[in-house]
Amino acid sequence: MSEAAQPLLEVNGLKKYFPIKSGLLSRTVGSVKAVDDISFSIKQGETFGLVGESGSGKSTVGRTILRLTDKTDGEVKFKGVDLYKLAPQELRQLRPKMQLIFQDPYSSLNPRVRIGDAIGEALLDHGLAPREEIRDRVMDVLAACGLSSYHIDRFPHEFSGGQRQRVGIARALVLNPDLIIADEPVSALDVSIQAQIINLFRKMQDTQGLTYLFISHDLSVVEHLCSHIGVMYLGSMMETASRGELFRNPLHPYTKALLSAVPIPIPKLKRERIVLSGELPNPANPPSGCKFHTRCPFAVARCREEAPLFRNVGNDHSVACHLV
Ligand code: SF4
Repeated sequence: MSEAAQPLLEVNGLKKYFPIKSGLLSRTVGSVKAVDDISFSIKQGETFGLVGESGSGKSTVGRTILRLTDKTDGEVKFKGVDLYKLAPQELRQLRPKMQLIFQDPYSSLNPRVRIGDAIGEALLDHGLAPREEIRDRVMDVLAACGLSSYHIDRFPHEFSGGQRQRVGIARALVLNPDLIIADEPVSALDVSIQAQIINLFRKMQDTQGLTYLFISHDLSVVEHLCSHIGVMYLGSMMETASRGELFRNPLHPYTKALLSAVPIPIPKLKRERIVLSGELPNPANPPSGCKFHTRCPFAVARCREEAPLFRNVGNDHSVACHLV
């Protein structure tokens, strides 16, 4: 395989189960299968959008990839290196190359630390720049993220929501990463500010060749940025395809329902809205067979008994549904 075709990130059979404890002795009585055997890969310079309702496990995927929480099973490879086989010191050396951006960067900023110091401390921690160069490096990254030089001496509470997200992006970018995992990075922002931040993500990808795993509950946001999309439901991957293929030819009933809620800019092109009945089932006690069968308008008897295989149906399009 040529280097260009080599995935930057490979996730194979990843599982993350959280134990449920009960009783005085805190015995394990079950588990929440937050991530249940999912696989996907992202090539250098691509953006993979991971979508699904709140509680589908998509944020846990991001955290498990970065080893912020331990996996239960499976494999995560970054540039061909299995991250779970690295010693703590080796993982620490690799950390700057894989950065996480949160929905609300304010929660990760110390309110008493000036933004310039908050951004620069990561450079110092990892020994990536001498102290006398830090201020210039921070100024450069602030400018690249659309912030002004005077922001360097401001405190987090002096920034608007959109500016804080720019700070979050600057804090990740200053380390010169290859992979950014962005977890709902625009969900808390007004629509007009969302567009600005998405444009910033795009610009950074063009200028720095970044690769993104973009986690969102909103398919219309993912549509603007992602080249490939994976749809998760209750810890499982239901469908993956390129953006064009998924929007043109969605195969899984859950994807169809999510897509039916995405506004179409051309009013004449009406798409029938599919409203899912019921709530997301309890992940500690997921439905048997196909996890989606309790809400699927097309479910047949087999769906209640047998889980569908996640399989490639051609055109780099994979789906888990008995009817496809
Ligand atoms: Fe619906 Fe059955 Fe397909 Fe699951 S396997 S999505 S329940 S039709």
